Amino acid sequence: MAALGAYRCIECNGEATELYRDYQRGVLRISICKSCQKPVDKYIEYDPVIILINAVLCKAQAYRHILFNTKINIHGKLCVFCLLCEAYVRWLQLQDSSQNTDPDDLIRYAKEWDFYRMFGIASLEQTSFFIGIFITLWWMTPEMLKTKSDFILLLKALLLSTYGKLLLIPAVIWEHDYTPLCLAFIKVFVLISNSQAIRVTLNLSRILPWFAIFFGLILENGVVCLFQKMGWDV
Ligand SMILES: [Zn+2]
Repeated sequence: MAALGAYRCIECNGEATELYRDYQRGVLRISICKSCQKPVDKYIEYDPVIILINAVLCKAQAYRHILFNTKINIHGKLCVFCLLCEAYVRWLQLQDSSQNTDPDDLIRYAKEWDFYRMFGIASLEQTSFFIGIFITLWWMTPEMLKTKSDFILLLKALLLSTYGKLLLIPAVIWEHDYTPLCLAFIKVFVLISNSQAIRVTLNLSRILPWFAIFFGLILENGVVCLFQKMGWDV
């Protein structure tokens, strides 16, 4: 049997030793939480599509299921993929603003370099945003971020909850009059998802994650302004 606290109850965030008990002959029974008397994790029986829909709806239970009760390990790849999407969208907007159809090799290399530059800027902004969040939370709730594993879990939660950026690609591919509105909507959705991930990971109220996100956005924009002042074309 797993150690106490290996899992979490998705309803009350209480610790649980197991998600289900195996009664042989294929009979499984979902464990009941000792604190709230509800099933520890009803999602273990659900179809992944239903879980994904619940996660998209930003339900805290679905976030707890994914973060605490599964061994999902795609946050690194997902982060790189999201940054590529963001870099591509910015690169595309840059091409639109500088109309140049000259098929010269030099132009082609310059365009390629622009893409890497956009990737670098997107990574820098994302890192500053996360650092802002970490500093605020560490300052406001030092008791919740005591160990290295607390930081790693929060980072994993933030990286996973940024998945909404994948929607940037369809938003620019099917370009129409409402594309700027869609891009703004995606940004807001990612922030809501980030806030819910912070709230679930550290078991906080609704206000504090938003405060951390606000500070993260300030730091992100501050870093961009600093680079612009230094003469970088950001
Ligand atoms: Zn419970």
